[in-house]
Amino acid sequence: MAKHIFVTGGVTSSLGKGIIASSLGKLLQARGLRVTIQKFDPYLNVDPGTLNPYEHGECFVTDDGAETDLDLGHYERFLNVPTSQANNVTTGSIYQTVIENERKGAYLGKTVQVIPHITDEIKRRVKSLGNTGKYDIIITELGGTVGDIESLPYVETLRQLRWEEGQFNCIVVHLTLLPYLNAAKELKTKPTQHSVRELSRNGVQPDIIVCRTEHHVTLEIRQKIARFCNVESNAVIEAIDADSIYDVPLILLREKLDRIILDKLRLPSHKQPDMSQWKEFLGRLKNPTCEVNIGLVGKYVELQDAYKSIQESFVHAGVTNECRVNVISIHSEYISERNVADKLKDLDGVLVAPGFGSRGIEGKITAIQYVRERKIPFLGICLGMQCAVIEFARNVLQWKDADSIEMNEETENPVINLMEEQKNLKLMGGTMRLGAYRCDVKKKSKAYKAYKSVKISERHRHRYEFNNDYLSQFVEAGMKTTGINPETSLVEIVELEDHPWFVGVQFHPELRSTVSKAHPLFVDFVEAAIEYQVAKN
Ligand code: GLN
Repeated sequence: MAKHIFVTGGVTSSLGKGIIASSLGKLLQARGLRVTIQKFDPYLNVDPGTLNPYEHGECFVTDDGAETDLDLGHYERFLNVPTSQANNVTTGSIYQTVIENERKGAYLGKTVQVIPHITDEIKRRVKSLGNTGKYDIIITELGGTVGDIESLPYVETLRQLRWEEGQFNCIVVHLTLLPYLNAAKELKTKPTQHSVRELSRNGVQPDIIVCRTEHHVTLEIRQKIARFCNVESNAVIEAIDADSIYDVPLILLREKLDRIILDKLRLPSHKQPDMSQWKEFLGRLKNPTCEVNIGLVGKYVELQDAYKSIQESFVHAGVTNECRVNVISIHSEYISERNVADKLKDLDGVLVAPGFGSRGIEGKITAIQYVRERKIPFLGICLGMQCAVIEFARNVLQWKDADSIEMNEETENPVINLMEEQKNLKLMGGTMRLGAYRCDVKKKSKAYKAYKSVKISERHRHRYEFNNDYLSQFVEAGMKTTGINPETSLVEIVELEDHPWFVGVQFHPELRSTVSKAHPLFVDFVEAAIEYQVAKN
């Protein structure tokens, strides 16, 4: 039977619950346990697929095509285990199921209520992962902050589960903030006391308190928190600010968080976790032998989390190349023919990001023309690949009005087109081409050099596709299609013949890059950027 660890948050949002959950998962996994992490989001959207990145940051896509919270990206990057639809539950999806059941008459005439119907459905979702038999430990992160109205049904479910499963099978880790008052030169514990009291008022007593802090937490403060919050003093854990998110597992290891958890769950804790690979990764991360500057051209660059997986993929690929990758955000809306050289000339590589809608498109196309002509390494992802196709059509094939149907329905040359099955769709949520699809890679290509395989599978999230009516003209003019979906013949990868490294992919490689397995396309892209820099100097 799987055991459960719940991670709740107090005092403020953005304390890094996702990173704490991932780091804890990593430590338990390094002790040989089979771990998965699940996220509960207390909003009413059924999934974050319809949310603007400004609202929510990146939308992470799983192999089975779920559009999910970006924390699932952290879980996968840390654990190197794929997540699925079952790993992300929203209040919207809980209500949707309950209301559908009610319409079917499944509740046999009963009044449908938050308790027990909503809480039962939440419980079912928690247990469904455990019932797969694939995991020893399920870590469940409760989104939001304790005390929010939206979080109440989750806290109540947690209370019931703990009672049903017993304290040795279900424990609660509460993440909180210890603010530092500069004037008093003191860490303050009162907000933590209040948030624990709020949890207790709802019937949930945390077992462990993890304190986010900018300063070390003294024994005295630990004892004070322990006394006022009813936990053992060794169960007050310091999570001091770190240089990198990848330091956090080792910080928690030093605090013996994994040991304490195993003891509380009555699991054997004699063996030390094997973190050697992780430490090697960190060593390389902190001791790069070179440095490259790569431009990230996108329209959501103001928001740090909008391209989270891309940013992290560069960290992983940088480590493989022993190179620090400085990712320089460039707003596509402000790129014009007049300023493109100024913005891009000192870069060693350019990535054009995924996106939706026409804002910033012309800037992306202008940037691609610049890097194509100047032979600067280029990686285009999803919309970035589509823009590379449009740019090539306009400036090489000289079809001046070439466009994607998404941007211009009237174009005479729809080089990026809508798939037949997408044409009559009315609903926006969950209707794109989503999740993992197979791709055949041609042998003489940059893609094959990277993957070292002719059969790959990558995740998708888009509606529009390369228009195969134009295929032969593109190939003749030098844009090769080096990755093709074997079932549908849809183009997955394009490359340029006379360019050192110019690759566009319809899928999202960034969703598959992890600490233990940097994504091969990112690895080769960074390598190409290093080579470009060397040749330039
Ligand atoms: N807007 C494009 C499409 O829907 C690209 C999507 C993306 O970049 N994720 O096809």
